[in-house]
Amino acid sequence: MDSRRLAYLHALDIDVWERRGLSNAPDSVVDVAAPSPVAARAESVAEIIPIRTVSDAPSTAHVDQLGWDELAATVKACQRCPLHQTRTQAVFGVGNREARWLVIGEAPGADEDRQGEPFVGRAGQLLNSMLKAIGLAREQVFIANILKSRPPNNRDPRPEEVQACIPFLYRQIELIDPQLILCVGRIAAQTLLSTDTPIGKLRGKLHHLAPTRPGAKSRPMIVTYHPAYLLRSPAEKRKAWGDLVLAMQTFEQLGSAAS
Ligand code: SF4
Repeated sequence: MDSRRLAYLHALDIDVWERRGLSNAPDSVVDVAAPSPVAARAESVAEIIPIRTVSDAPSTAHVDQLGWDELAATVKACQRCPLHQTRTQAVFGVGNREARWLVIGEAPGADEDRQGEPFVGRAGQLLNSMLKAIGLAREQVFIANILKSRPPNNRDPRPEEVQACIPFLYRQIELIDPQLILCVGRIAAQTLLSTDTPIGKLRGKLHHLAPTRPGAKSRPMIVTYHPAYLLRSPAEKRKAWGDLVLAMQTFEQLGSAAS
């Protein structure tokens, strides 16, 4: 395993050891000390939690028709909810528009609001390390939030703000057509799964994001902790690593099934 990947795993507080006699083997998830029986978690891959139905989804009639550039311009100028009054700028999202992985968080914080990009600052650096630990560069994925404008003082999003903003995320999902969604944090998970189940019970299993409009696909989704939470609660990094292992396994299984 190369030194850079080791550093990313250390950022997640993951112990690493070398396999004897397999020095030429490719890096794999068994190189690291997964925090709990990964096999047991893998068995839960088939679990599907029923979530929001199409009829519950907010109207996306206009946004549904937009291409990337029009969508970005619409978000930039958006005044659909009062958050436009307090933001510095809307944070559209960043990354590969044809990514196979889509990372979804909650909302911009102070750094993101200032820089116009999601997941910057310390939490962003930890997210980058989490992605690198499973072999993904930030540039390979697309990163977006439920809300595109920062709630003042980083308060939780209000239902009416989510209702106003989520059509933009749904359109991003349609345009990207990702193979797997990695949902980070309680707010994003509970919003997308239309549940108040604690994140500790949502992580560690495969969910499916329901179709966001009639005729759309459901999307495989794995939930994990938000990197900002992991910075405050480093003991939970091992669970997050388990979620990343599950995400990687799920992604590989989906790829095999499709080929
Ligand atoms: S949070 Fe979303 S809906 Fe509200 S102003 Fe920003 S972009 Fe528009």
